[in-house]
Amino acid sequence: MTPELKLLIDRQQINEAVLRLAAEISRDYYDSRPLLLGVLKGAFVFMADLVRQLDIPLDMDFIRLSSYGSAQKSCGKVTMIQGLKTPIKGRHVLVIEDIIDTGLTISWLMEHLQKKKPASLRLCTLVDKPSRRCTPVTIDYLGFSIPDKFIVGYGVDWDERYRNLPEICYINDQTED
Ligand code: 5GP
Repeated sequence: MTPELKLLIDRQQINEAVLRLAAEISRDYYDSRPLLLGVLKGAFVFMADLVRQLDIPLDMDFIRLSSYGSAQKSCGKVTMIQGLKTPIKGRHVLVIEDIIDTGLTISWLMEHLQKKKPASLRLCTLVDKPSRRCTPVTIDYLGFSIPDKFIVGYGVDWDERYRNLPEICYINDQTED
């Protein structure tokens, strides 16, 4: 099946959001050499653009999670497929996510990381879908808040497709126009 894609956030809007977030992060972390922790695979394009706008000393690492459930819903049962390589005790850790939806995946991750006693732990996400939240999540740096739509592009996939789209689209469920 080839789904119908509709544009939600264009390249210019993405660029502006990345610049805004980079300015906020550079200001807040200018003297603390943060560890930016990207959540694969979805955050890889966002993180690549973001770090190239950060003019501060920093380190990077990546983790990969899997949450069980259907393709369009997570059920909060999370496992780590690829773990942290960098010790985070005493570090200022900034998690870089693609999407916060129900919040179950990121809540699990933040709790897991907090147990490792970082000096600080914050969250930056490109997209938030607050209408579907099941558990409270504090987002420190936010790109876009969007309605409940299934999005693809800019690193985010549908069954591994569309990660290479330069903009963010949503899959039209055909109940609209
Ligand atoms: P949560 O645990 O917050 O419900 O799920 C977050 C994860 O679900 C995201 O990191 C992403 O992998 C997936 N997800 C949630 N919403 C979307 C969406 O609109 N599109 C895609 N492709 N994945 C989504």
